[in-house]
Amino acid sequence: MEIKVTKTTCPKEKPEASTLGFGKYFSDHMFVMDYSREQGWHDARIVPFGNLSLHPASTVLHYGSEIFEGLKAYRRADGKVQLFRPLENIRRMNRSAERMCLPTIPEEDALYILKEFVKFEQEWTPSAPGTSLYLRPFMFGNDETLGVHAVHNATYIIIASPVGSYYKEGINPVKIMIEDQDVRAVRGGTGEAKCGGNYAASNRAGERAEQKGYSQVLWLDGVERKYIEEVGAMNVMFKIGGEIITPMLSGSILPGITRKSCIEVLKKAGYKVTERLFSIDELEQAMQDGTLEEAWGCGTAAVVSPIGEFCYKGVQHPVNNGEIGEVTQMLYDTLTGIQWGKGGDTFGWTCPID
Ligand SMILES: *Cc1c(COP(=O)(O)O)cnc(C)c1O
Repeated sequence: MEIKVTKTTCPKEKPEASTLGFGKYFSDHMFVMDYSREQGWHDARIVPFGNLSLHPASTVLHYGSEIFEGLKAYRRADGKVQLFRPLENIRRMNRSAERMCLPTIPEEDALYILKEFVKFEQEWTPSAPGTSLYLRPFMFGNDETLGVHAVHNATYIIIASPVGSYYKEGINPVKIMIEDQDVRAVRGGTGEAKCGGNYAASNRAGERAEQKGYSQVLWLDGVERKYIEEVGAMNVMFKIGGEIITPMLSGSILPGITRKSCIEVLKKAGYKVTERLFSIDELEQAMQDGTLEEAWGCGTAAVVSPIGEFCYKGVQHPVNNGEIGEVTQMLYDTLTGIQWGKGGDTFGWTCPID
């Protein structure tokens, strides 16, 4: 595969590490590739970062056919840049594409593109503790017609954004509102695909929770409003009576790579990990009888996010006195150690870009 390169003529100033935040700054270039039924994927190119030009009837603007991924490039102490389990993101992207009737990209091509693009933009990977280069691959249907059908044309893009440390003032447990009205996804729907539409559907509950002083919502299943699914845009785990419990991948839950990695780390550390249907009644019971020891969300952005309080039907339930628990801390230390190349990578999860 050949990637045509057009270099920017006006490289940007790199932002100060302390001002980074999340998704505010973008690197100098982006990767773009087009798809058509006749030609397949073609015109792979790295071009200066800039606005897109879309036909006003473009499929994505009307019918929401869009999927995305999120992963990070980390700068190690020796200056080299590495990725964390990138093939997992590529495989998930192809599964999302299949669900949304978008074209898939052969794994080896997608990995080659990702590594070449990160290599090209690697100087945008910041080095301050906790910072990284967030990579956002995304794909959308781009037919220039209002007819409704599986798309014939698509565009694949990767943009890169230097991001700050998620935890600037130490890891603060978050307060979670248990949502019993809106649902994020239903079985048979698009919950297990990483698609923009799932986010559009979650905004209202997120907004309501925020107004009441909660940072995320805990989603229940869309059929019975009974089984716990995810927390905000993260997977969720509980430690109850020494056992780790996480909702099983039922079809409406996003199969997180951090979730998968946490399970592997926990099992290796000797914990009993159970993936099963887990109901809100069971959680309520565990909160009342004091057997709920820890709860946390997990995802690429935060790695793990300890939960310090749940609010359900107006009743507040503190978790672990609002402090980060031992297992949550262990997962954070282990995963960030691997990602930034501080400890050994006994799992073989890191992928240097050259
Ligand atoms: C991306 C995402 C996650 C976390 O996945 P990771 O691969 O761990 O980053 C969890 N839930 C939702 C809804 C997501 O979009």
